[in-house]
Amino acid sequence: KMPVPSDIEISQSCIPKPIDQVAKEVGLLPDEVELYGQTKAKVHLSALQRLKNQPDGKYVVVTGITPTPLGEGKSTTTVGLVQALGAHLHQNVFACLRQPSQGPTFGIKGGAAGGGYCQVVPMEEFNLHLTGDIHAITAANNLVAAAVDARMFHELTQTDQALYNRLVPSVGGVRKFSDIQIRRLQKLGINKTDPMALTKEEVNLFVRLDIDPGTITWQRVLDTNDRFLRKITIGQSPTEKGFSRTAQFDITVSSEIMAVLALSDGLDDMKKRLGRMVVASSKRGEPVTADDLGVTGALAVLMKDAIKPNLMQTLEGTPVFVHAGPFANIAHGNSSVLADKIALKLVGKEGFVVTEAGFGADIGMEKFFNIKCRYSGLRPHVVVLVATVRALKMHGGGPAVTAGVPLPKEYTEENLQLLAKGCSNLNKQIQNARVFGVPVIVAVNAFKTDTKAELALVAQMAKEAGAFDAVECTHWAEGGKGAVALARAVQRASQTPSNFRFLYNVELPVVDKIRLIAQQIYGASDIELLPEAQEKVTLYTKQGFGNLPICMAKTHLSLSHDPEQKGAPTGFVLPIRDIRASVGAGFLYPLVGTMSTMPGLPTRPCFYDIDLDPVSGEVNGLF
Ligand code: ADP
Repeated sequence: KMPVPSDIEISQSCIPKPIDQVAKEVGLLPDEVELYGQTKAKVHLSALQRLKNQPDGKYVVVTGITPTPLGEGKSTTTVGLVQALGAHLHQNVFACLRQPSQGPTFGIKGGAAGGGYCQVVPMEEFNLHLTGDIHAITAANNLVAAAVDARMFHELTQTDQALYNRLVPSVGGVRKFSDIQIRRLQKLGINKTDPMALTKEEVNLFVRLDIDPGTITWQRVLDTNDRFLRKITIGQSPTEKGFSRTAQFDITVSSEIMAVLALSDGLDDMKKRLGRMVVASSKRGEPVTADDLGVTGALAVLMKDAIKPNLMQTLEGTPVFVHAGPFANIAHGNSSVLADKIALKLVGKEGFVVTEAGFGADIGMEKFFNIKCRYSGLRPHVVVLVATVRALKMHGGGPAVTAGVPLPKEYTEENLQLLAKGCSNLNKQIQNARVFGVPVIVAVNAFKTDTKAELALVAQMAKEAGAFDAVECTHWAEGGKGAVALARAVQRASQTPSNFRFLYNVELPVVDKIRLIAQQIYGASDIELLPEAQEKVTLYTKQGFGNLPICMAKTHLSLSHDPEQKGAPTGFVLPIRDIRASVGAGFLYPLVGTMSTMPGLPTRPCFYDIDLDPVSGEVNGLF
């Protein structure tokens, strides 16, 4: 057999169909499609409106065992499955993927377009600017950040009356509140619409957000791995009159606006979520929102194109939506609700939409169900759980691996004992999917060094653990053909009635919800709230946010909070260090350990190998 060429070589050897042809094939009308060149297009939300009475297709979510540095291949399997269903079994299909951050593309991890003969093409378009959605989020996020500091500055340097005159200027002798100002007045319990009718006290309440600088949770963002921005001092120019403070930059994809984009189900819903985003508390202890800052409308304008899903295609010409890419720890790590909804209408009742959830099933899938499906109202038919022999061996106690060093022989030679032991992790993740009442298909993503006996053992253990089926797949090396058996298993599973249920009722107290996730999904014996977390439970419950779903920020490298604990640890007490709120996106996120929201660059970053051919204009070195 020929060796499999590099991802970018495969991607560049494929001549994609013109994207308007793909749009036509999936049943989009010309006025629903906005072309961004030959290979990418945005799809208008009007398509969803037009198709609203169509039945939805089958909804499949791809997840994985607990990730290891050896890679599981969730994106590759998502693409392989739709290629098999679409190009080989001739079903209507759509894949829905997250847009990767540019940070890792130039840093450590590389891109995320799949791999081998299962990719979204052109992969350099997918991995780089795409249609600018991430740039729009950067702009919107930083407008909020600028608004916070500027507002504090103006409040500190002006009297109530001066602030009022500027916030509600007199035009031709008449003052008028804007819509957003009327919303603020209502929130303050002032039911007046005549700007001249406010008392002195009301003017004071209205003009002063009185942001407590120590409570600011809104940060600036940039989509570059720039570790030196993790902690900065802002306001050092003399023009800021000494109002300097410590702040930080996060990577753009960790912005709450990214999570808002992913969870919104339309323009109106997105505006509401943007307006509800909390940036700080006032000195009175009340939440200060984007609406209070008056910035909601401007944010919606900056995000008006980003909200439209991006249409691309796989190597085998099946359609793909690439839309939104929230972090999978401090956010929910799933692509957009809107892309899934439009795709489910486009494929029709017998078709399949395959969407991917980040990290392992304990994180991405749990959040897919408890957060994304709760907001979207969509109900999945099948879970595909991706596993690899090598990752399971690591869960069985296999040695650590180092990047750039050849793999130890445990991973390249048959070792059934290590593998059997590591299947504890597979078993637990299968149970995790079954908690939600959805049938599970295990996709055993074969690597060339895996032996027949090893692949068979994983399939056998998966079935014993209660998987609906377990299938060996070779799509990375063979394209969709290598995932036909997987596709047939998914078809069969999708015919069985699913008894979907949520893990928890959102009305439960915050602590109970966290405990349910820790015990039922992670295998913890209990949770322990550290003082800061305890304070936040009280604060958020008081502020009225206690009934939001929970988005755990836990390491993805273990079912527990300790990345070293492989397999399926039990009996541990999960520490909850702190809790934060993404009120606009709509979840509370408990922090289990410290989470970096700004990655750094390694000694030899991916950018060393990335280059542009000045003659052909081709991009080289992406993976
Ligand atoms: P995930 O979505 O789980 O992070 P990806 O699908 O992005 O994983 O795959 C991670 C890396 O592993 C990619 O570079 C991909 O090309 C590679 N890969 C996936 N499956 C295989 C396989 N069966 N053989 C060799 N390499 C693979």
